[in-house]
Amino acid sequence: LLSLRGVRKAYGANVVLDDFDLDVDEGSCVVLIGASGSGKSTLLRCVNLLETVDDGVISLNGVDITDPRADADKIRSGIGVVFQSYNLFPHLSVLDNVTLAPIRVHRVRRDVARARALEVLDRVGLADKASAKPDELSGGQQQRAAIARALVNSPALMLLDEITSALDPELVGEVLDLLRDLRSDGITMLICTHEMAFAREVADQVCFLHHGRPLEIGPPDQLFGNPREPRTREFLSRIR
Ligand code: ATP
Ligand code: MG
Repeated sequence: LLSLRGVRKAYGANVVLDDFDLDVDEGSCVVLIGASGSGKSTLLRCVNLLETVDDGVISLNGVDITDPRADADKIRSGIGVVFQSYNLFPHLSVLDNVTLAPIRVHRVRRDVARARALEVLDRVGLADKASAKPDELSGGQQQRAAIARALVNSPALMLLDEITSALDPELVGEVLDLLRDLRSDGITMLICTHEMAFAREVADQVCFLHHGRPLEIGPPDQLFGNPREPRTREFLSRIR
């Protein structure tokens, strides 16, 4: 579904992604791990066209999205994004947060947008919170509302960046449960996290980034249980 070939991204002299290749199969969940600054968030921003790549090709569903002639708005509308700091609008109800983009950006009729929003809120277990304001929700519920907002367009791909790291440990579980459900619905996901237990739990493939390169990619049991690369081993031993 998603492929990166030879992707390079630098900020000045700082080469953040270097000759990066990655494949995310339809319906699979790929988790990016690696030290702070290794390029995980930058990679997600390149996929979401918040950054332009310096070299290489990113294709989604066979379409080269790095082509300057590509329709960025259309591509972005097929990608759901949840970031740690991707906050809900505090003055809007949960329902209005979810319907905002469909109504304003995609010109969906208000009643159609509301019906669809209620469907996804139900999906994330927040049907009874539709008229609540974000500050009336727990952190886990807010993050589930942000996931509902990302799901509302039925995206082909979800990008999730550290979505549990601001949550109290007891709230992480409910977000994890939801991701597990989404995965069984066949939603393709590319996730960054510092939480290895989480990575191990949800990933089909784990990719260890080291200095902007995909140093090791493998199923979680292999990557965590028996890493091939000394640097992967060293990274895992440091954070355990
Ligand atoms: P973390 O685990 O801390 O979230 P990360 O793996 O997500 O780290 P990135 O945020 O992708 O890392 O950053 C990779 C590198 O790119 C860092 O060296 C950072 O300083 C640099 N960088 C990121 N965004 C910018 C920017 N807008 N301008 C300049 N440098 C940037
Ligand atoms: Mg990051």
